[in-house]
Amino acid sequence: MKINEIEALVRPNIRALCPYSTARDEFKGSLGVFLDANESPFDTGFNRYPDPRQSALKERLSAIKCIPAGNIFVGNGSDEAIDLVYRIFCEPGKDSSVIISPSYGMYSVCADINGVAYRSVQLEEDFSLDTGKLLAACDPTTKVIFLCSPNNPTANVFPTEQILDIVDRFPGMVVLDEAYADFSSAGSLRRYIFDHPNLIVLQTLSKAWGLAGLRLGLAFSNEYVMRLFAMVKYPYNVNALSQQAALKALGQDVRVKIEETLKQRAVLAGELESSACVRKVYPSEANFLLVEFDDPDAVYAHLVSDGVIVRNRNKVKGCSGCLRITVGLASENEALMKSLKRYEESNIR
Ligand SMILES: *Cc1c(COP(=O)(O)O)cnc(C)c1O
Repeated sequence: MKINEIEALVRPNIRALCPYSTARDEFKGSLGVFLDANESPFDTGFNRYPDPRQSALKERLSAIKCIPAGNIFVGNGSDEAIDLVYRIFCEPGKDSSVIISPSYGMYSVCADINGVAYRSVQLEEDFSLDTGKLLAACDPTTKVIFLCSPNNPTANVFPTEQILDIVDRFPGMVVLDEAYADFSSAGSLRRYIFDHPNLIVLQTLSKAWGLAGLRLGLAFSNEYVMRLFAMVKYPYNVNALSQQAALKALGQDVRVKIEETLKQRAVLAGELESSACVRKVYPSEANFLLVEFDDPDAVYAHLVSDGVIVRNRNKVKGCSGCLRITVGLASENEALMKSLKRYEESNIR
């Protein structure tokens, strides 16, 4: 797709939008007497509005991600970016999206909230994606396809060539959610935004970076699409405290934590595989394991009674029998294994 073809995908009201211009948009200096935004002059540490463009944070992210700041959107979690995609590209009651299943729930919830129809394409038994089935589910009303790789909750990645083939063949936007890319040997596809104008890559600071409480999600795409995001978002969508704390936290050596999680993932997978109550541990490219049990509901209830909380995915189509287990600290994973051992012993007696 060509960049000028993207414009035709945008909702007419958004294409014609004259966005709100904040006081900080109109004067960008940092020195002076600021009497332009009706802020309180009394210093509380937070009496000034935050930078609506998050310039300092984007510069830092630009260096870390090797992506120019103009190709980065920072939002109130990835969930904001998912919602913005619907609000920018999908006319309620008219346009539609196509999502994969099982996957992250927000793609369909955001569709419902925005009054946009969606179709789900079921992954195969081995959690691979059939490109023919995916594209066949699209019709002329389909503006967006949502992909997630590594996928939540199945923990697998889709091959890079397959994702790029979908991006090349689909005449609409493709959103690739890479919340777990930091844990994957496949890495990120964000560099492909430059020669694929219909590709939007989502990442987050909630997982590998350990900042879920700050609510910081990222989107990468071409500058035109990023300008649309900037126009439609709330002017001050990322608060001052989050911007400051993220700038500081981005200085940490995140590799060490990722390596430790990968090590713990391998240990935990090995232990679960040799557990009598476990049927299967699916291969994982993320910071969690999808694990099939003989009696998942009983295991779930037993774990809860021991104060170990995992996610029960038994009722999710394609995941029957499965619990989703986040890889924790060594001590937390040991608590899980200890509880499972007790479960097995009580079942033998
Ligand atoms: C955890 C997760 C996110 C993160 O969302 P935030 O709003 O950034 O915290 C996004 N996508 C998927 C698939 C996830 O599992």
